[in-house]
Amino acid sequence: VLKKIAIYGKGGIGKSTTVSNMAAAYDNSTFVIGCDPKADTTRTLVGKRIPTILDTMRDNTQPELEDIVYEGYNNTLCVESGGPEPGVGCAGRGVIVAMNLLDKIGAFDNDPDLVIYDVLGDVVCGGFSVPLREDYADEVYIVTSGEYMSLYAANNIAKGIKKLNGKLGGIICNCRNVKNEVEVVTEFASLISSKIMGIIPRCELVQTSEYKASTVVETFPDSSQSKIYSELINNIMNNQEFSTPTPMGIEEFEEFFYSYV
Ligand code: ATP
Ligand code: MG
Repeated sequence: VLKKIAIYGKGGIGKSTTVSNMAAAYDNSTFVIGCDPKADTTRTLVGKRIPTILDTMRDNTQPELEDIVYEGYNNTLCVESGGPEPGVGCAGRGVIVAMNLLDKIGAFDNDPDLVIYDVLGDVVCGGFSVPLREDYADEVYIVTSGEYMSLYAANNIAKGIKKLNGKLGGIICNCRNVKNEVEVVTEFASLISSKIMGIIPRCELVQTSEYKASTVVETFPDSSQSKIYSELINNIMNNQEFSTPTPMGIEEFEEFFYSYV
């Protein structure tokens, strides 16, 4: 394995979209692990929803590789950890159970070049810390837009990464087309001792391909959006500079944000 990365970011910011398009754009073998109970990371790679590990284990305590690992577009292998029923239980537990099973059945034996974890957005949930705490992932990338709540969440995630002694690889700006967006996200990255890895424009091809349960990269391979996902994953694969983030205090964050609006 060349890299094991985890993608974090506020709920709804575009983690799963970014993960699936990066995996689709990367030509070498990639293992994609959806760690969100919503289990929608791999849908656009496989072309349909796949059964989750936790659901599968409810009926079959000894599942085999082919019950839970699905082939997706362009040399990807896809799994979804699944999670507890909505409203009960801990998503972090689910990820641990899923990862233990993957190890046991030798899911990583064919040695993929890249492993990507699409992590649950919520920082206060156990699901947040597991991929880092358990050393499943070596590098973290945070997806954010220039919106207040998204940057606020990114700053909190930086606190979590610091606490867990994680390595922050960089910030991915998924644009929502707000004022001064690239400037504000670039400054944010620098203030927390990190850097921008890529800037993804807001683009309606994302929705068009999502309707078809597909990625932009698969459906519109010649689009500029598709090239951007390709450059992003190449940047990440070549990245050798990591930092321990220096998250901002609440007042510092407010001051920073309001200097841009
Ligand atoms: P969650 O935390 O709920 O898992 P997420 O961070 O994984 O959310 P996505 O599901 O990837 O977010 O994206 C949320 C919505 O935003 C989706 O409908 C997706 O189509 C849209 N979206 C994401 N990125 C872009 C983009 N660059 N351009 C246009 N739409 C986008
Ligand atoms: Mg998601």
